[in-house]
Formats: sequence, structure tokens, C-alpha cells
Amino acid sequence: MPELPEVETIVRGLDPGLRERAIAGTELLFPPLLRRASARDLAALVGKRIAGVRRRGKMIVIECRGGPTLVFHLKMTGQLLLAEPGAPRDKHTRLVITFADAASELHFRDIRKFGFLLCLAQTPHGTRAGHDAGAADTCAELASLGPEPLAVTSDEFAGRFAGKKARIKGLLLDQTIVAGIGNIYADEILFDARIQPETPASSIGREGWVRLWKSTRRILNKAIRAKGSTVRDYVDTSGRAGRFQFSHRVYDREGEPCRACRTPIKRIRVAGRSTYFCPSCQRKRRRVVSTHITMLPKR
Ligand code: ZN
Repeated sequence: MPELPEVETIVRGLDPGLRERAIAGTELLFPPLLRRASARDLAALVGKRIAGVRRRGKMIVIECRGGPTLVFHLKMTGQLLLAEPGAPRDKHTRLVITFADAASELHFRDIRKFGFLLCLAQTPHGTRAGHDAGAADTCAELASLGPEPLAVTSDEFAGRFAGKKARIKGLLLDQTIVAGIGNIYADEILFDARIQPETPASSIGREGWVRLWKSTRRILNKAIRAKGSTVRDYVDTSGRAGRFQFSHRVYDREGEPCRACRTPIKRIRVAGRSTYFCPSCQRKRRRVVSTHITMLPKR
């Protein structure tokens, strides 16, 4: 599933490619793609100019001047591509948006069909380029999201997990705590921070949270620079694969030697997800509270 770095890469491709262009038409080839709206709502886009494209968590928000706001979630296999005008639609093309200038078209492809699109009516205050806090951010899908992990301080980051006893891997995947991290980057971040994925959040001390915050920033920024990870279907708006998969330290490397210590990478299940870690670099922390157990010899 595309995560923060992949979605950020797509947004950085779409924003300059779509900004200020007037929409000429929409072709909805798979109606269930639209949530709580119909093709008629999409028709309100015709003639409107795109104000800007931005990311929120793993979602892509396309704002139109005086028109509806589009929110795409790519889920497992969704792709947003800038295609040549009249480019062939294949059987996985679910939506095509055409533009008055006919310079390119926007295609949404999705093999597994889990992706969705919201078409949110314009707010009474209108939509402002790039920073509309109206329609998009108040809809249920976006309002429930935690903050952006690259926009919080270390204290704010640690504060999001305060009072939580669950295992850290599962909590990193919870979009209501911080938004945008998925299975690949949770594992890579935890390796970078040398934290075992099953560690309860309540046992990560102050120093551990600072390390985890730093690792989150380091891994996500590195992955954005490498234009994301292509493990299966992810490509950018031009159809190019990312490069960060070549830098993965643990994800999808079960049995392969750790790049730091040569110990074979282990795969376990945490929060229902395959989780990769190095049992040597990411040791389970011993309890800080010492317990005095006296082993009595059996009689
Ligand atoms: Zn190791």
C-alpha cells in the first residue's frame, strides 16, 4: 500500500502538473470508486480550475476553485497517472479527468479496487488554494487522522502515544495517532530506532521516544528523496518506480542477513501484520523494575 513517502511523491508530481488547469470532463468507469457521491456530483467539476494538490496522511486532496474537493485514497494498488491526451484506458482504469487545454489527462488506475474517491461539495467560504480547512479536513476520513509525523516536535510525537500500553508496531500503524505510516515504514523506522516491534509503548522511555521521532523523520525523508518504495504496484505520476526498496534494512528480508550485524532478519506477526526486525539489533528491553525471584531447589 502506498504510504506517506509514495503519496508525497505523487502529490509532488500532480501539483505542478494540475495547478490552474480547467477541468473539461470526467469519465467514471467504476462507479463504486465514489463514496457518498454520484457521477452527477463529479459533473460539478467541469469548468472549474484546480487550486492545488496536497497530501494528508496517505490521502491526496485536490482542491478546485469554486468547485468540489476531491480526496483520493489509493489503498492497496491505486495509481494516479498523468497520461497523454486520449491515452488508452485499460481494464484497471477507474476514472479519467480531462482538461480544457488537452495537455494531459489524469487517470486513476486500481487493480484491486480498494481505492476510493470522495467528492466533497464546496464549503460556504469557498475553497482556498492549498489550505482549505473546510470541506476536506472536516470530512470523517480526514478529521479522524492524527497529525503529520513530519510536522510535530518530539514532545508532540511522544504525547500522541501517552497512556497507551499496546505494542509500538501496531500503534505506529494507527492513523488516528500519527497519519501516513504503514507496514513498510513502521518496520524500517523501528529498526532505525533499534526498538523491538512488540515493545509496549508504555515501556519506551523519554530517550526512546526522541530516538523514535528522529528515526521517523530520517526514514520518511530519505524515502521521499528516493521517491518511495516500489514493492509491488506503486509508481509515480509518470509511471516510474521508487528506489527506496533498495535501502530497506528489514522489510521483506526474512532470513537475509541484517545489514548492520549479519543476524538473519526475523518475521513475526504484530497487530495482524507481517513484521520484520533484527533480533540482535532490536532486542526486547529488559524490564527496568527488577524482580527478585529466588529459585528454590526442588526437594
Ligand atoms: Zn542486526
